[in-house]
Amino acid sequence: MRKFIFVTGGVVSGLGKGITAASLGRLLKNRGLKITSQKLDPYMNVDPGTMSPYQHGEVFVTEDGAETDLDLGHYERFIDENLTKYSNLTSGRVYWNVLNKERNGEYLGQTVQIIPHVTNEIKEFILKNQNETGADVSIVEIGGTTGDIESQPFLEAIRQLALEVGRRNCLFIHVCLVPYITGSDEFKSKPTQHSVRELQGLGIHPDIIVARSDKEIPKDIREKISLFCNVSPDCVISNTTLPCLYEVPIMLHEQKMDDVVCRELGIEDTKVRLAQWEKLVSYIYARKGEVQIALVGKYVKLHDSYLSIVEALNHASFVAGKNVKIKWIDSDTVTPESAPKIFEDCAGIILPGGFGMRGIEGMINACQYARENHLPYFGICLGMQILVIEFARNVLGLKDANSREFNEEGKHCVIDLMEGQKGVKKGGTMRLGKYPCKVKKSTLMHKAYASDLIEERHRHRYEFSNEYRKQMEQAGLVISGTSPDELLVEAVELSEKENPFFMGVQFHPEFKSRPNKPQPLFVEFVKSCCK
Ligand code: GLN
Repeated sequence: MRKFIFVTGGVVSGLGKGITAASLGRLLKNRGLKITSQKLDPYMNVDPGTMSPYQHGEVFVTEDGAETDLDLGHYERFIDENLTKYSNLTSGRVYWNVLNKERNGEYLGQTVQIIPHVTNEIKEFILKNQNETGADVSIVEIGGTTGDIESQPFLEAIRQLALEVGRRNCLFIHVCLVPYITGSDEFKSKPTQHSVRELQGLGIHPDIIVARSDKEIPKDIREKISLFCNVSPDCVISNTTLPCLYEVPIMLHEQKMDDVVCRELGIEDTKVRLAQWEKLVSYIYARKGEVQIALVGKYVKLHDSYLSIVEALNHASFVAGKNVKIKWIDSDTVTPESAPKIFEDCAGIILPGGFGMRGIEGMINACQYARENHLPYFGICLGMQILVIEFARNVLGLKDANSREFNEEGKHCVIDLMEGQKGVKKGGTMRLGKYPCKVKKSTLMHKAYASDLIEERHRHRYEFSNEYRKQMEQAGLVISGTSPDELLVEAVELSEKENPFFMGVQFHPEFKSRPNKPQPLFVEFVKSCCK
């Protein structure tokens, strides 16, 4: 079986196309199908790796080290399949590939054009992913909104692909905003009609329309959309804003979306097994009470910058049975004087990853406050580096301790570039993707993972400097995780006697957390905060 589902967006961006696509993926997986997903992004960056978190939210890292769009995180969490470098394609990458081929003479003197060369590159990428994964169904989301100039080559490519693999093997889903006008107490279908017309002008006729709105869309409006957009009535699906994202697959299933998709694609009718997923949602609603955790970072104005961290905390809260409320703290505001007031109503502090100098001193102040006041602290990537710098400054007494990232000429760079990394420039020089880590016995980390060897994903340039390893250990810092050859420090902690949870990890455990498989370190951290 080789089927394709293309998901486009209409009217406005930020509609939750990704959640719709991911939820459909979960439903199809639970019908026994093998699913893969892809996101095609029309922007010109080669990948989102160098984009500011303020512009684009978090960069999601795959096992094989691709820096991808945050929607890929939704796919992994909903569908529970690891994605690869074939899961995200940008216009920048497409043009990069095409221009490289041109320079290498691969087009044999032809005039290189958007059609067919750019569109062929896009089609090849979609087909390659399906071949590599052996999936029954590829769900391909096109970023942006129909009508954007920059997304046209992608839409043209999927139109052609549908023709090539046969219309019966393809399905076009268009996700549109259906606004509600409070004054006249009405839903409006006109923007959807316009958007569908725009898509039809490009040769794509949507098979299913997913109507997004904050409230449930009444039957008469769905019928109107069906009539004017030329789709069967049961192919108009209402996607309402819900308090819990993980409920979306259930909402779509209640409207038989997975049945309709299988029918339209000619996929044999099997029953969807949703009991496990329903149980998960019932745990989510069964949580009682609330624990407040401070998230200290420099990109806190855009919560999407920390999307996987927020989701991993959520997943852990399902196990802990208590809601996690995040107190968003701009690290620039944390001083020794302000810290007691800021953290007085927090049960723990999480310090996620980040790049660059701004806000660093405030992060160190937050870490010091946690250590001195026995507040649970979880440092991730930059958060671990901050922990090490704080420990060096205030326990070892190396007052000028720092990371080479923030002080190139520094005397005590406890976080440094490794030999062989010196002299490198930005871009393409990071440790990315999955690496193994040896876990030391009788540590908090070992207790959490219950394993001697684990694997987690990385995205950083700097490392714990081995020059200070002995000194730090003698002063009480426990090195709980290293690379298998013991050359790289991957995790540090303080003894549980000093603090119930005081840990820093060089990797990003949040990327592997799934609602049905909460990440063990997050679970331990949230449990410590609940005590
Ligand atoms: N800026 C740090 C480094 O490059 C940490 C990166 C991160 O937190 N992802 O090593």
